[in-house]
Amino acid sequence: VAPVSPIAVDTTCGYCGVGCALTVHVADGGVDQITPDRRGPVNRGHACVKGRFAYGFATSPDRLTTPLIRDGDRLAPASWEDALALIGERIGGVIGRHGPDAVAAISSARATNEENYLMQKLMRAVVGTNNVDNCSRICHAPSAAGLTAAFGLAGGTNPAEDIERAGCLLVAGANPTEAHPVIGARIRQRALSGAKLVVIDPRRTELAALADVHLAARPGSNVAVFNGLARIMLEQGWTDPGFLADRADGLDILREQLRRFSPERVAQLSGVAPPALREAARLYGTAQTPMIIYGLGVTEHAHGTDGVRTLANLAILRGAVGTQHGGGVNPLRGQNNVQGASDMGALPDLLPGYRPVADAQARARCAQVWGCPVPDRAGLRIPEMFDAALDGRLRALYVFGENIAQTDPDSGHVRAALAACEFVVCQEIFLTDTARLADVVLPGASFLEKDGTFVNFDRRFQRVRPALPTPGSARADFAIIQAVAAALGGDLGCATPAAALDECARVAPLFAGVSHARLDREGPLHWPCRSTDDPGQPRLHLRSFATPNGRAQLAAREWLPPGEQPDEAYPYVLITGRRLTHYNAGTMTRRTPNLALQPHETLDMHPADAAALGLRDGAAVEITSRRGSVTATARLTSEMALGQVFMAFHFPDVAANLLTSAAVDEVTSCPEYKVTAVQLRPR
Ligand code: SF4
Repeated sequence: VAPVSPIAVDTTCGYCGVGCALTVHVADGGVDQITPDRRGPVNRGHACVKGRFAYGFATSPDRLTTPLIRDGDRLAPASWEDALALIGERIGGVIGRHGPDAVAAISSARATNEENYLMQKLMRAVVGTNNVDNCSRICHAPSAAGLTAAFGLAGGTNPAEDIERAGCLLVAGANPTEAHPVIGARIRQRALSGAKLVVIDPRRTELAALADVHLAARPGSNVAVFNGLARIMLEQGWTDPGFLADRADGLDILREQLRRFSPERVAQLSGVAPPALREAARLYGTAQTPMIIYGLGVTEHAHGTDGVRTLANLAILRGAVGTQHGGGVNPLRGQNNVQGASDMGALPDLLPGYRPVADAQARARCAQVWGCPVPDRAGLRIPEMFDAALDGRLRALYVFGENIAQTDPDSGHVRAALAACEFVVCQEIFLTDTARLADVVLPGASFLEKDGTFVNFDRRFQRVRPALPTPGSARADFAIIQAVAAALGGDLGCATPAAALDECARVAPLFAGVSHARLDREGPLHWPCRSTDDPGQPRLHLRSFATPNGRAQLAAREWLPPGEQPDEAYPYVLITGRRLTHYNAGTMTRRTPNLALQPHETLDMHPADAAALGLRDGAAVEITSRRGSVTATARLTSEMALGQVFMAFHFPDVAANLLTSAAVDEVTSCPEYKVTAVQLRPR
């Protein structure tokens, strides 16, 4: 049989939050190749080793192709009818006996906006609870809380193209070269073209090595460093007095607070030498349109929201936010649609478009469109779901597209919580560690099979189009969520993903002008986009901030220690993060040729630390925290500071999250992945 001619499908990358536009070339029922799309507004014809080459997972023989139902110790293949009937019976039973708040769902930052919209609607309109959350809880919830408090909206303030307009780039707690490679390359290009580069990161990353100033702040010291920079900027007059007078509140209280953050005290708290701190403040404070880009090294801390607020202070002091010239405060989102999952209201306290569930008007609007009342009490956050499962308040959990048993912190606690639930549903594309613990597994679709939209890190709605059919009897996740609703006696409406986004536009004024038809016609759109003739807003807060009084809010915050610190028993600090070739739990990338590029996990450590322990490069090393032990291969590198070690969480056999701490951000419950006290031992 002659091969079918390739067809080309334009879509958006399903890995990181950069949102590269890709063209999937399909031939003979599989992907022939993926090429980056020159029309992509962020990637402009570029892509990284994940988006371009890591697609073989879609046709892996490991894909789930039929529902599974627990039968004793094993999961047995079942029909969709039986799986859905069991879900209806068991979750319906939990609601009948314990009420709707005994059920919770974890929605997916890998899934489309339309699927997330349906998932939160399922929980609110059919089950009758606000117990719905998504993985932004464990990565960028402090960004949403911090940016909302400072500026009034939960999104990054500026588009990617402002990188090329920045006179100084301040990159804090992020290694975009590996975690967001296309943005990493744009930052690098801009720095090589003359912009100043300040990097604040414990590790000597590629960008740190290129930087004009690298502040190797100890993990857990961000607030001290950001306060120190703010103090120097104020002392030296590297601020915008007109902006502060006209558009900001809180200067006097902040000035008073900063009296406690002399460069010398900051040095004690962070290890950053005063001259380097002063030079970083000068570069940021005196540049044209300085731009802040930050990552999970700012948010994933016990005081992550304070980190975001004190970082935002710098932009407010400098008057480098809410202007058409560029700059701003811009979080690099981790998963491809972590922004969108939150935008769509897959959050326990916020409806679509970030309207609080406590807001009667917002609830009334949803109730009018959905035809049912909306619960008014905030639901459980993800870490609270696990605690509630263990104390009997939560009986049934629906996990959609997240491998929480591998990626959430203190994974022994997570597994115990899953085991404590009466009933667990997992909707997945592979039999992950989480799926193995479920009672019913529903086979869903990969991003190459999805129809809908993602929102990338700079608030751009972009189209996702199906290039492949789902394998076997796996179904579109959109259809599965509707079928689960029907099994529970509900009807979510929204016959198509396009109809779901149209309905979302009716309940969320921020997205009122967005539709599939418009995206297909005009290309990507930034939110806010409040009407069909609104072109969208690449830069936020140009006329006024979205806070109640229209002014940016400076925040006076004290430095507080992380949840745990190294001591005699656990003398090293473990930092976790991502690597270039793999993604998150590695479920997809480990089933592609990327595995050959990195076949196993390593523990990165300074050669002097290794020598003190008698470890050679490549030797086995046991890493133990107060919660567990894992073994990895030592990789000796001067990227690491003395006393600090780094590993990723891409490999289940080196389960980094068995080690990580249960400490969480006091505002948002985001876990502190970036500071874990560990001991090391040669194996
Ligand atoms: Fe995909 Fe991110 Fe790589 Fe772009 S940079 S191709 S969005 S993984």
